[in-house]
Amino acid sequence: MTMNRRGMLRSLAGAGMLGVTTARTQSAQESAARAVRGLPAPKIKDIRVIETQPANARLTVVKIVTDQDGLYGYGCATFTQRAELVRPAVERYLKPLLLGKTADRIEDIWQTAYFSSYWKNGPVLNNAISGIDEALWDIKGRQAGMPVYQLAGGKCREAAECFASVRGNDPKATVERSKELIAQGFRKLRIGGTGEGGPEGAQAGATKPLHSRPMFDREAHYRRTMKLFEVCAKEFGPEIEWATDIHERLDPRQGVQFCKEAEKFPVLFIEDPLSPEDLAYFRQIRQQCNTPIAMGELFNSPHEWQPLIQGRLIDYIRCHVSQVGGFTPARKIALLAENFGVKTAWHAPGDLSPVGHMANVTLDVVSYNFGTQEWNPYNPKVLEVFQGTAEMKDAYLWVSEKPGWGIEVDEKVAEKYPFTEGAGARSGLNGGWGDVRLADGTVIKQ
Ligand SMILES: [Mg+2]
Repeated sequence: MTMNRRGMLRSLAGAGMLGVTTARTQSAQESAARAVRGLPAPKIKDIRVIETQPANARLTVVKIVTDQDGLYGYGCATFTQRAELVRPAVERYLKPLLLGKTADRIEDIWQTAYFSSYWKNGPVLNNAISGIDEALWDIKGRQAGMPVYQLAGGKCREAAECFASVRGNDPKATVERSKELIAQGFRKLRIGGTGEGGPEGAQAGATKPLHSRPMFDREAHYRRTMKLFEVCAKEFGPEIEWATDIHERLDPRQGVQFCKEAEKFPVLFIEDPLSPEDLAYFRQIRQQCNTPIAMGELFNSPHEWQPLIQGRLIDYIRCHVSQVGGFTPARKIALLAENFGVKTAWHAPGDLSPVGHMANVTLDVVSYNFGTQEWNPYNPKVLEVFQGTAEMKDAYLWVSEKPGWGIEVDEKVAEKYPFTEGAGARSGLNGGWGDVRLADGTVIKQ
C-alpha cells in the first residue's frame, strides 16, 4: 500500500521525526515505491552461505532472503583456494553489517561492505562482497521481473562468442582436439598446458630436478608452447585465433620475448605473460610488438587494473568477476576499459559457480567493448544443483531471459555434495595449490 506523500510527511512531522534529510529520504523512498509498483522496498532479512562441491571445484554461493515472501537472490562468492574462509567473512562480518538494510541500494551496500574492514582488496573479502552484490542484483531483477541485463541497459549483442581450451603440450593431440572444437563452431582456441610435472613427468630436455615436488621447466615450456602455435597456425591458417596462458610462470624477460616471438602467428591473446608483481614490464611488451595481451585474473584492486587500462598496455581485461567484488565493480571496469579501447575477456574456468558465470555473460551482452568469453563445460552434477545456467550453442553463450540471473539453486541437492579434500599432489592442503619449483628447488609463481 502506498501512502499519500503529504499525509506521510504530516504524520512524521506530528511524531517530531521530520528533519530536512528525513523528508528527502522519504520522498526518494516514495519514488522507489512507485517504481516497484507500490511494493515497499525489500529489506535484508537473512544472509546464508551455500557451500557445495558437486564435481571438482568447491563452489560458494551467497543467498540473501528479504522480508518479502518468496523474494531472494543468489550471488557467486567462489574462491576455491581458500574456500572455507569466505563463509565466516559473510556470516560473521558482512551479515551483521547488512541485516535490515534496504536491499535495493546495491551501490550503497557495496561501498559500505568494501570500507567496513578498513583494509580492503583481499580475495576473501572481495569474494564475500561479490556474493552479496550479485545476490542483490538477482533480487532486483526478480523484483522487476527482468533479467539483470535489462537493468544494465539491455543487450548490445545477441550472445557472447566464446573461446574454448585445448589442454596439453602434444602438438598432434592439440590439432585433433582443435578440429573437434572448430567443428562445433569455435574460432578462438586457447592451447598449451601449465607445463607442470613431477620428477618422473619432467619433459624431455628438462634438467633433472633436485627435489621431489611438482617441477616446472621455463625454457622447455617456452619452446613447447611456441611449437604449438607454429603447428596450429600452419594446420588451420589465419581463420582461427590462438591463445595461451603463461600463468605468470616465465620470468619477465621470457614473458616479453614470448609475446614478441608469437607476433607472427594469428594470436587471440597471450594471457598473463607477466605477474601482477611485474606490471611495469607490460610497457616493454607494447614497445616491442603488437601481440594482443590479456591480463587480470589475479587482480583484486583498482590499483592493478587502472594503470594497464589507462596506459592502453593490454588488449583484454581478464578479471575474475567475484575476485574484484562482483557484478557492480566489474561493470565499472568494463566501462573504464571501453574508454581506452580495451576489451573484456572475463575469467571463467570450472571453479566459478553458474551464478557467477551468468554474471559474466550478462556483462558480455551489455558491454560494447566485449572481446571474448572463456567457456568450460560444466560437469552434469553441477547442473543438478544449479538450474538455469547460461546456454552454449555453436560457440556462443546465451544469457538467461528469466528474471534476475535466472538460476535456481537446489539447496537439498547442494547439501549432498559437501566440500572435500583435494586429490593428488595437492592433497591435504584443503584446496590450496601448494608449491611448484624449478629444477634447482626454487619455488615459483603459479
Ligand atoms: Mg588464466
